[in-house]
This record gives sequence, structure tokens and C-alpha cells, in this order.
Amino acid sequence: MTSRQKTIYVDTRRCMNCRACETACKLENGLPAGPRWMMVAEVEVTQDGIDKTVFLPMPCLHCGEPACEKACPAGAIYKRPEDGIVLVNKDKCIGCRQCLWACPFGVPQFGLDNKMEKCTLCVHLTSKGLPTACQAACPAEAILVGTVDEISKTLRERYANSSRKMLFEGKYMQA
Ligand code: SF4
Ligand code: SF4
Repeated sequence: MTSRQKTIYVDTRRCMNCRACETACKLENGLPAGPRWMMVAEVEVTQDGIDKTVFLPMPCLHCGEPACEKACPAGAIYKRPEDGIVLVNKDKCIGCRQCLWACPFGVPQFGLDNKMEKCTLCVHLTSKGLPTACQAACPAEAILVGTVDEISKTLRERYANSSRKMLFEGKYMQA
């Protein structure tokens, strides 16, 4: 895995299920009805004894060692060495769906042409240093895209800012 490996991180505490990411993905990639490259899943969890629903946007995670790539008998799936983005060569795909069975997250999609398609991490945008369509559309800034170092930096800054805010508001003093 390259240190320039790009990935996508979702902060489920921020996601409010508005599905702007789903719509933006469809529009940006010109997708017809059917294939969904971004899906917001609703997951029931129990936290501190309280049942609640967590919303989990689920694009392709561009895995370090993609199970889909290993499973594909046609060599249609490949990982770009420069940034780790996992892409599909539709010309090679034979529609056998081995990738779908192999992917732990059920990401691969199939349209009317019966060829695998999925999130490309908006490679046409991210290659130019621009955000993905889902990231740009999310009003809650729940989606982060970048290298692990870039995402970690943003999360550390967010944590520091919220800690400062809590300190300023005296919330630490109430315990
Ligand atoms: S399709 Fe699934 S296995 Fe393949 S890179 Fe995406 S998340 Fe990983
Ligand atoms: S459906 Fe296409 S991409 Fe998926 S495993 Fe088969 S040939 Fe490969």
C-alpha cells in the first residue's frame, strides 16, 4: 500500500441522513436509476443502554488489499499505484459478480450493461486536488477524503477545536 493511499472517512456522529452525498454522487457521475455508488445505510446500535439509529454513508473504501481485485477472474479491477484508488476496466468485466460476493461491504453495483461499476473516489476531481462530489455536498462535513495523514490532521484539529470550545464553555468544570 502506498503512503499516498487515498481513502474516505465518515464521521457517523455528524451524518444526519440528508442524503445530499447520494444525490451529488449520482449527478457528478451521470448515473441512471439503479446503480448507487454512494449509499447511506441505517444501522441500529445500543450505546450506553440507549437504542439509536446511526447513519453510515457507504462508498467504496478503496481497500489497501482489495478483495474484489483478488476475486476478479478477468483482471478487470486494479489499484492505482500512485494513490491507491481502486478502479474497474469495464471492457474487461464479464459480469460474473465474483467481486460482489468478495467485497465485505457489498459495494460493487451492476447496471443494465451487467458490468461492475462503483465509486471512483471522483478520480477526475481528486487527481486535481479537488474534493469528491459527496464530500463537497455534505452540509455536516461528515465525509473526509485524503491520505491517512491528511485525514488524521483534520480529525486532530477538530478534536482540539471542540476541546477548546468545551473548556471555554466550562463544560469540563461541571463533572
Ligand atoms: S469494492 Fe469492496 S473490496 Fe473492492 S476496494 Fe471497494 S470496498 Fe474494498
Ligand atoms: S463482475 Fe466483472 S469486475 Fe466483478 S469479478 Fe466479474 S469480471 Fe471482475
